[in-house]
Amino acid sequence: MQDTMARRVALLGGTFDPVHAGHVALGAHFMALLQADELWVMPALPWQKAALAASPQQRAEMVELAFAGQPYPVVVDKRELQRGQPTYTVDTLRELRAELGPQTSIAFLMGADQLQRLDTWHDWQDLFGLAHLCAAARPGFELGALPPAVAQEFARRAATPEQIRNTPSGLTCLAPDLALDVSATGIRAALQRGNKPGSLSLLIPPVVLDYIEQHNLYKK
Ligand code: ATP
Repeated sequence: MQDTMARRVALLGGTFDPVHAGHVALGAHFMALLQADELWVMPALPWQKAALAASPQQRAEMVELAFAGQPYPVVVDKRELQRGQPTYTVDTLRELRAELGPQTSIAFLMGADQLQRLDTWHDWQDLFGLAHLCAAARPGFELGALPPAVAQEFARRAATPEQIRNTPSGLTCLAPDLALDVSATGIRAALQRGNKPGSLSLLIPPVVLDYIEQHNLYKK
């Protein structure tokens, strides 16, 4: 069957404090699975997290460094940072849908930790009218242990990568085989304990480690 969609965008939002190998792997995993044309990475000013350690500009710069040189086009979209106040994902997706048009396939990516709390997101059920939702496994978080309403929506909308590619929104997919045990919390804690950035080189892209050292980030 011939694919008919003109454009397929995968979108990864996050706080990226700092960006790490889990984020890069999450993007790469779904770019390969969905064969999307572009990965958009969107650093956020979050509602649901305590104060962040790096500034919005630093987080965006680290994201740009981490995703440079991928074998697919990457757009680092700073709209949420530029608003200067936290934004709900559903509002950003409304804006993006208006910009990208009704036909574009938009897949919003997340890890299992976020999926487990999806029902705390503002107007979460409206997300499906705007984008597909694709979630990947993450060590410590069960893809199978979801709030009943989230599990029900995900099961009812479950689709193949091909269906996701050829539909603008409304479908879901789970990627159970991503298993990168890395978190920004763990990285910040290790750096605060005084671990040398070099000891984290499997967990963060080296260019980001250099940036962290140069800017003296995540020290006590
Ligand atoms: P923190 O530890 O500060 O909560 P984090 O490591 O979860 O941060 P975020 O910037 O909050 O990083 O994550 C952005 C998105 O990437 C979220 O959807 C999150 O679930 C996903 N993600 C982060 N790390 C991984 C990972 N190791 N495997 C799969 N998904 C991940």
